[in-house]
Amino acid sequence: TSDNLQQLDFAKQDDLLPAIVQHAHTGTVLMQGYMNPAALEQTLTTGLVTFYSRSKQRLWCKGESSGNTLKLVNVHSDCDADSLLIRALPAGPTCHLGTESCFSSDGFSEQPTLAQLMRVVQQRVANAESKSYTEQLLAAGTKRAAQKVGEEGVEVALAAATHDRDELLNESADLLYHLLVVLHSEELELSDVLEVLAQRRR
Ligand code: AMP
Ligand code: ZN
Ligand code: ZN
Ligand code: ZN
Repeated sequence: TSDNLQQLDFAKQDDLLPAIVQHAHTGTVLMQGYMNPAALEQTLTTGLVTFYSRSKQRLWCKGESSGNTLKLVNVHSDCDADSLLIRALPAGPTCHLGTESCFSSDGFSEQPTLAQLMRVVQQRVANAESKSYTEQLLAAGTKRAAQKVGEEGVEVALAAATHDRDELLNESADLLYHLLVVLHSEELELSDVLEVLAQRRR
């Protein structure tokens, strides 16, 4: 769960390191707090993200009263060991204002990532009667979804070749969406594709 945490530079700022919490599946930045050595130790031993609260002046296990805990997935320190990146899975809204992320109000976390879109696709169940296009598509099987990927790919190519930028944006969105559906239909994850890309870089 952790790397290189022995040499953390707590001395720089009153024993406190900024700790950025990121959703382990989607990468959404959820919140930022501070950890002292005791908070980090409690986080590692309990598996629940625990900060040092500067206002409460004590250890604060996020969710201790709301139940909206952050289940630790892993911890990494940055290049010069003076801040922490925590990957975690939230039990509910992380912000005390009820949003998924403390950075939601400026629309930052509303920007959908492919991983978030894939989660939406995965949550749909194949249902030919449903009003949901994704559910109808999944019910029709991989062949239909594969056909759509082909069509959208051609539309992307045409839009690009004619320098129609609006069309290129729309068709690219169509292609990415149908690509996720066809991957899901074949029981593959987006992370499987990203792993192939990562291996090519080595
Ligand atoms: P909780 O840890 O979720 O049980 O919340 C306890 C208290 O901590 C709340 O009443 C808020 O004052 C504060 N709090 C909770 N979540 C956050 C957050 N994401 N950022 C800042 N303060 C928070
Ligand atoms: Zn740093
Ligand atoms: Zn907040
Ligand atoms: Zn299209």
